[in-house]
Parts: sequence; C-alpha cells; structure tokens
Amino acid sequence: MGYAEVSVNSPVAQRRTFSYAIPPDLSIDVGQAVWAPFGEKLLQGIVLELSPYPAVEETREIAGIIDPQPLLSPARVSLAHWISQHYLSPLFDAVALMLPPGFERRVVTFISPTADEPDMSPLTPKQRHAWELVQRQGRVSLKYMQKTLGKKSAQTLVSQLVRRGLVTRSYELESVKAKPKVELYLSLIANADETQQEAARLREKGANKQAALLTFLSQQSKPVPLTEARQRVNCDKAVADALANKGLVAIQHVEVRRDPLAYQSITPSQPLRLTAAQESAFKSIQSSLLAAVEQHISPPVFLLHGVTGSGKTEIYLQALAEAVRLGKRGIVLVPEIALAPQTIERFASRFPNKVAVLHSKLSLGEQFDEWQRIRNGESDVVIGPRSAVFAPQPDLGLIVIDEEHEWTYKQHDRSPHYHARDVALKLAELTGAVVILGSATPDVETFYHAQRGDYRLLQLPERVVPREHSPLPQIKVVDLRDELKAGNRSLFSRSLSQAIDKVMTNGQQAILFLNRRGAATSIQCRNCGFVLSCKRCEVPLTYHLAEDIVVCHQCNYRMPVPQVCPQCLSRRIKYLGVGTQKLEQETSYAFPQARLLRWDSDATRRKHSHQEILNKFRAHGADILIGTQMVAKGLDLPQVTLVGVVSADTGLNLPDFRAGERTFQLLSQVAGRAGRGSSGGEAIIQTYSPEHYAIQTAAKHDYALFYDKEIAYRRQLHNPPFSRLASLTYTHTNDTLCQREAERMKRRLLEERDAEGITDLNLIGPAPAFIHRLRGRFRWQLILRGSELSAFLAQIPIPQGWAVDIDPVGL
Ligand code: ADP
Ligand code: ZN
Ligand code: ZN
Repeated sequence: MGYAEVSVNSPVAQRRTFSYAIPPDLSIDVGQAVWAPFGEKLLQGIVLELSPYPAVEETREIAGIIDPQPLLSPARVSLAHWISQHYLSPLFDAVALMLPPGFERRVVTFISPTADEPDMSPLTPKQRHAWELVQRQGRVSLKYMQKTLGKKSAQTLVSQLVRRGLVTRSYELESVKAKPKVELYLSLIANADETQQEAARLREKGANKQAALLTFLSQQSKPVPLTEARQRVNCDKAVADALANKGLVAIQHVEVRRDPLAYQSITPSQPLRLTAAQESAFKSIQSSLLAAVEQHISPPVFLLHGVTGSGKTEIYLQALAEAVRLGKRGIVLVPEIALAPQTIERFASRFPNKVAVLHSKLSLGEQFDEWQRIRNGESDVVIGPRSAVFAPQPDLGLIVIDEEHEWTYKQHDRSPHYHARDVALKLAELTGAVVILGSATPDVETFYHAQRGDYRLLQLPERVVPREHSPLPQIKVVDLRDELKAGNRSLFSRSLSQAIDKVMTNGQQAILFLNRRGAATSIQCRNCGFVLSCKRCEVPLTYHLAEDIVVCHQCNYRMPVPQVCPQCLSRRIKYLGVGTQKLEQETSYAFPQARLLRWDSDATRRKHSHQEILNKFRAHGADILIGTQMVAKGLDLPQVTLVGVVSADTGLNLPDFRAGERTFQLLSQVAGRAGRGSSGGEAIIQTYSPEHYAIQTAAKHDYALFYDKEIAYRRQLHNPPFSRLASLTYTHTNDTLCQREAERMKRRLLEERDAEGITDLNLIGPAPAFIHRLRGRFRWQLILRGSELSAFLAQIPIPQGWAVDIDPVGL
C-alpha cells in the first residue's frame, strides 16, 4: 500500500501536508487533485508527494480522484513548496495559484434519515422537530436546516441526532462555477426519403414547427448549431427534443472554446531584420537556448536593458520563435494586460492561433478554456500579467518579463505575497528555461545582479529608427520656486504654457502627467522646496489631516505642522497635491481651445475602456491627454510631441527608500512617450527639487549615473540588495491594542534574535502603517532588515491579525 502527502484546502493546514493512504483501486500521481477526508469534512487536496511509508502512524484513505490528469507538474509542485516557504504562505494558497480557474469549491453537507419510523420516545421536542424536517424532505442540506432552525441550534440538533444513529451526514461539492462551454449541434439520422415522408406526416398532424426543422436540417450538409437552427426556423429546444425522441434527429454536445482574442482581426507578421545591436543580443540568447535544450546546460538569466523603442519586443518575438523551433514553449509577462492590447496584437500576429491570453478581466469561462488549452499544449506563447507565470505551459523553454522593474509584478494585497519575477527565476531554475528580463530602467537590484555577473547583461543603447532620425526627447527641468518668485501661481510654468501653445498651433498632441502616488501627504515649502522629514530616519513626514500633525511612518515621531518653513522662514509651507480632475479643470481654463481627454482609474472601470481611450487619442480625437501612472506605460503615440510632468515631487517625498528609484523610472517612462514619431518631441518636468539626483539623471536619460548614485545610497543605508526586508503588519479595530500587540511582537522577535545570536537583523518600528486606518481598522507595522528572514520568521508563531510580507515593494 502506498501513501500520499496531500496539501489540503483548509486554513488549519497552514504550511504542511497531510499523509493519506492510497486505496488499492486508485492510481494516483504527483500533482493530482483528490478528495481528502479531514476531520468531519471532505476537502479538496493536491498530492505533492508519494511515499511507501506514511509520515504519521494513523492515516485515513484518499476518498477519490477529482481530475484524472495531474494538475501540477513536478516542477510546479516544487515551486509551490518554495513559495510557501519563502513567502510564509499556507501551502494550499501557493498550490491554488496553479490550479485551473474556478477549481476551489465549497463542500455542501447533507443530512438524511437512517430509518423511516425510529423510536421517538427519548427525543426532546426540538430534536423531534428537527428529525421530522429531515424525514419530510428525505434529504436536506445543512444550510436549509440552519435557515429554518437557526445556525447554532441546527448544528447541535444534527450532532445529537447523528449520535443517536437517527440521521447521517454526507458531503457534496457545490456545483462547478466554470465548465467547458458546450454547444448543441443537430443532425439528421434518417435518410432523405424517410425525412420527406416524416415531414409530410408531421405537417398533417399540425406539428408544423417540427416539420419545418426537419426540412431545414435535410437541406444542410453538416451538423447545425441549435442556436442557428432556432433562428432560422423559429423554434425552441423542445421541438428539437421531440424530433430526437422520435429517432429522426441526433443532438450532439460539442465543446467550444471561448476565445478572448477573437475580437481582434489579426494579420500575420514576419520577423524584422535585426539591427546590429539587436543581432548580437539575440545571438547570445539563441546560443543559450540551444545549449539548454540540446545539452541541458542550465541557462543564464538575461537582462535586456534598452530604452523604449530600442527593439526589445522584436528580440522577445524572435527568441520565442527560436524556442518553438527547438520544440519548446514560452510565457511572456507584461505589467497589466488591459493596458497593452498593442503588445498582445504583436505577439498574436507573429504566432497566429498559437497565443493564449490569461488575465483577470476575462470571464471565468474564458479563463477556464484558456487554461485547458494551455495545459493541452495548444499554445506556443502564453501572455499575461503576473499570474500568467503560473500557467500550466508544458515544455517551458523561455520566460520573458517585460518591464521587469514594474511593481505590479508583486502581489501585495493578498497572500501569497509573491513577486512574479522571483517566481519566474525559480521556475526557470526548476525547468531549465531561459529568462529574459527586459527594461529601459531596470530595477536597481536586478542591475546590481547583472553588474556582479549573476545575470548576463545585454544592452540596446539606441532607439530603432526605421526612416527618419528620431532621438530621445529633450527633457527640460523647470524650477517651480522660480515661477513663484516671478508671480506665477498657476499649475503651468511659463515654459510648459508656451510649449502647449506651440503644440496646439502645430496641430500636434500633448500628454500631461500627474504623479499621484501618495499625493498630498508630505509638507513642502513652496518658497525653497524644503520637505519636512524625520531627523532620525531621514524619511519625509506624512501629513495627517484629521489631527493636523505630521508623523514618521518608520519610528512614530510626531509633531504639529510648523507655521513657517524651518529653512527659509517663509509662511508658504503647505501640503502639495492636485488630482486629475482639478488638473483637467485648470487646463480647460488655461487652454480653452484644446480638446481634453482624461485617463485615470475613474475613467476606466469598464472592460475595454483603456483601449477606447487610447484609440480615441491616437485618432486625434483629443489634443491633450491628462493622466496618472497609466499614461506612462509603453504606449506608442506618434503624434505626441510634448509631455508635461505637472509635479515630479509627490513620488519623491514618499517615506520609502525606493522613492528615488520610482521617480526615476516614472519620469524616464513618461518622457519616453514624447517624440515617438518623426516630428521629435520634448518633455518638461516641473519640480521644487530640481537638484535631486533622480530628476537630474532622468532629464539626461542617464541610467548608469542614476544607478551609481542609488546603489551608493543603498550600500550606505544597508538597504536591498545589500539586505532583505520583511514587513509585519498588524490590523485591529482598536488603535491602542494594535500598537501594544506590535510592541509585544517586537520584543518577541528581539528575544528570538538574541537567543539565536543573529547579528545582522534589525527591527524598525513599530509605527503606524503609511495607510494607518483602512476600512475602520488600524494598522501598525514592523520592518525587519536582515538576510535569512523567511527562515527566521518561519519558527515564530504569528497570531491571527498579522500579515507578513517578505521582500515588500512599498513600505
Ligand atoms: P521596445 O520593445 O524596446 O520598446 P520595439 O520592439 O517595440 O521596442 O521596437 C520599437 C519600434 O521599432 C517598433 O515599431 C518596431 O516594430 C520597430 N522595430 C524593432 N526592431 C526593428 C528592426 N530590426 N527593423 C525595423 N524596425 C524595427
Ligand atoms: Zn522654505
Ligand atoms: Zn523617524
């Protein structure tokens, strides 16, 4: 008899598996979904390991198989273990990332009577009433009994009746949320002569609809979908059923695929002839692919560093084609699929009918179909946002992560708090796949690895210029303090106003960009640019409107807002921040002739509206596009000759050691939107901190210089990549209790650290989280900085209410 280690879908299972005996009549594989009895319940489970011996003395038997095909490959089973250990998440949560959409279902409990007329005399009136309820229906769901008798008392009464042997419990799963889409097809069984006779007979009997349907079907050369027949003959399904019952017509159930790409008409495209720089980058990737496939040499990770428009995507396409030629397949991750329909189109046109798309805006049915199709090996390329790294793509040979520095690759809002890039690197290690990380502004940590030789650096220093010369846009930095001195209090500096006027005169287009991350939270002097920050932590203090104070979100230092600027004694010290709606209003006053289009999360709640806004702007349905982060992402808008960054500072003043990096990335990306066409372009950055290195280096398009400054700060302050971080956030409705628990946890962690003699671990905080109050609950945070954080935290009991985030992307 064999045994299986099963990850079960129960919150109490946490990071462990459970041992089950495999009944002799079941054949079970690693990765298979099974029914596992657990306490009184029957749970879904995934087999992660087989063994000849059980891990515990007493085991129960696996109750059955859910899906005959394994759902996880052995590599993905290892990946699930890694995610659970590294991110300290429940094992089943990690496994669930890789299951087909709609897999997780609740178990429904049913109660049935054991005998028709048992001895009722020992029963209380309540028990008798409950029994009669079951008896009357024959079999009822526990939920129904709870509705009738009250939740608690139903449960108690059922247990009492079970103990007396009067009723039994049984379990079923709630019905499947996503099933393959089935369409019904009709075809004739009888031959032509019989059909005609039958039709005539039916007409005589007055069954005109049946006769019409029969005649219609006799005119078709192949089976007809019921939906089509219903339209053509104007009949309902009952008519088809009647003919089927007479043995004249067959009704077939045919699985059809819901295709998320069907709405696009795609013309196939051919590979482009690579430029010299592209060619040399491609050659490196090609030879690693070949060595990996043919000699099983574990391939390197490539960092493809190239400005926007330098031809990175063309390299991805050709590398994927190469992988396919070698009998492999690929996964391509992009930051947010809804924002990149152009990208999908490029992939779909190079690999016609061989591209699968996975993302959360598809209906569950569409996701389910894509998942099945991928698992069956029907797609050469899977494209999607971070979760697509878990696609069941067989024969994985290449993983591409475009814009690898994007923080949306981190799942920060729920467990597991995984980073898709780190998961991809692990998956590649397990499967021998090549990884290409692509970016114009690589994550400082990624670039550090490339510099050290952990990754192989490939560079594309210039834009591909098909015809005319289109260099990177000129970037001008405007000091807003000078504007104020000159008496200009509007949102537009004189330079930006003039530039917008020029765009309007020339009939071109402009983008106005607003950096809204953490807007209006720091206090900055409008006269000298001074930002209030914590003397101990050197991070900007955050303004709290309700109490009219500023708070340090690292050490909890608090003070009232000063009346005058500590540096220049000006009274113009006030918090910053303007929203997109306000900007739109101001723009319409300042440039009444301009047609405006606003693009932010309010404007894009619907499924295709990103695309609609983009299409409208590209068709020159507006002159100025006003937007937040979204406008920064890889859009190719040739008529845009001006990008104005209304304020570069809000992002800079966040209490986060990555603030400089984020600002550099955003400014570089936004500026890259200008001058994609032949008329060139410029970008104007408005700021109170023109001397800040992130702004200076972004204005010069100088990643290398930015990197040197940034990595020096990181080294000095011992921040990643020179350490690792973890954040522990405690949430409670009572602020004082919340703070107290955070302090207790800090003491516990310090004790453990000292007991183990770990020297490189510090604790920062506790302090209120940046968003201190969320949906009526308070949040306090501890930050750990050290090296082996997952292993350290794994042995400490973490009570309910705590959320642990390993390698958090925002503090
Ligand atoms: P990136 O991904 O780095 O932003 P793309 O691959 O999108 O760059 O290339 C930018 C533009 O240049 C696209 O319009 C693309 O079709 C074109 N392009 C890329 N490589 C070549 C090439 N070798 N020859 C001609 N045009 C190219
Ligand atoms: Zn000042
Ligand atoms: Zn502080």
